[in-house]
Parts: sequence; structure tokens; C-alpha cells
Amino acid sequence: MPSDHATYVVEVDNLLSVCHFQPPQTLANPATLRSVNSHLHSTVIPAGPRNPEPRLPTPVPTLDSIRHKVEAGTRHTLDDGLLLYEPSTPLHEVGALANLVRGRLNGNRAYYNINTHLNATNICVYRCTFCAFRSDLREAKGYVMSDEQILARGQEAVDNGCTEMHIVGGLHHQKKYDWYVNLVRILHDAYPDLHLKAWTGVEINWFEFLAKKSVREILEDLIDAGLGSMPGGGAAI
Ligand code: SF4
Repeated sequence: MPSDHATYVVEVDNLLSVCHFQPPQTLANPATLRSVNSHLHSTVIPAGPRNPEPRLPTPVPTLDSIRHKVEAGTRHTLDDGLLLYEPSTPLHEVGALANLVRGRLNGNRAYYNINTHLNATNICVYRCTFCAFRSDLREAKGYVMSDEQILARGQEAVDNGCTEMHIVGGLHHQKKYDWYVNLVRILHDAYPDLHLKAWTGVEINWFEFLAKKSVREILEDLIDAGLGSMPGGGAAI
């Protein structure tokens, strides 16, 4: 094995040791990322004949240099990204740069929907620590909406010009899989023009447990019932 390759391996090991000793919250800090990045730049450079060209020092990015790159459609570096991530970087200027790219890709068009939420039950088997919504089965604040109440919410949505209903809720201890599918079906049958965005990944995972079906089969059931799309849940991510 050529010696320059051996050097490279040792340096990568050093880099990994730096990464592994950083707790995730420390790594998320821009200053730490910059330090890991500078470690990367300063150590992972194979020496010897495989890399005969001297490396020019990387220019320190500024918002102006990033703006020039955005205008030219040039790819950004990790350091560019870190600068944009700095709390001191003016957010509105970052937004203006993002809008430049959005406009380049999509022109002067934007789309909006009028959205309402349906949370048919707050009773949940889980206890996510951030959640103030959930309830235990016998707690006074626990509720489950009837089909009539769910349809009334659909009517209210349509009467108010809503184009989309966002449906999430608790994972009820006693409700069967069919209850969740039926909820989508009765709404879609009654209000076919209302886009139904229902059930996050957490709920789909719960349905796997309830129905003993695959994710594909569950999604097929829900699409057949009238599902238009799925919301993204923080817990799902
Ligand atoms: S799964 Fe949803 S409703 Fe249940 S505790 Fe977690 S965030 Fe709350």
C-alpha cells in the first residue's frame, strides 16, 4: 500500500475521532461544524504524487460572494452553507437569495390553499414529551368525535371555502384500523372536492401494528378511501 494512502487512512481516523467525541447538539453548533470542517480541510489531503497540484487556499465566503454564486447558478461550498446558517447572517437577505432561485425555477407564481384541521381524537397510547394535546383514555379532557361530528367539520370547511383538510390525532387505545380508514372515506364521499391530507408516519406505523398490513397495503387502503396526501409530522421526522 503506498505510504500516501496510509497517511490518508490515519487522517480519516483522526477526523472520525473528532466527530465521534462531539455530542449531536455540539455538532449542530455552527462554530463546531466550522472547526470539524477546518479539521477536514487541514488533514484529509493525500500527500505525494497522487496530489501533485498545490491547493489554493479556500476564500472565506461572504454574503456578497454567496450572492454572486446564486446569481451565477454556481454550486455552494460547505463554508457558504455554514455562513448562511450563522445566527448573525441577516435572515431577510437569505430569504431574498432563496426567492431569487425560486423565481428562476418557477417564475412569478405561487400557490396557496385554504386549510383547516381535524383532530378526531386526542386519546393516545403514546406520551411524546413535547405533546400537550394527548389524553389518557379516562382523562376528563379525552374526546373522540362521532361520524356526525366529523362530517359536520367537513361541511364547515366547505362552507368556509377550504380546499384542504389536514387530519391528524391521537393513536386511540381502542379504535380499530377501520375507524381511521372510514374517517377518510366518509369525508371524501361527502366532500369529494376537499383535499384530504391525513395521517403522519407515526399513524401509518400504528396502523401497521393494528392491521398487521404492510405500509403499501395501508396506503392503498387509504388512497382507495380518498386520501390525497400525507402531512409531515415533526415526530415522524
Ligand atoms: S403520537 Fe401524537 S398525539 Fe400521541 S403523544 Fe405523540 S405527538 Fe401527541
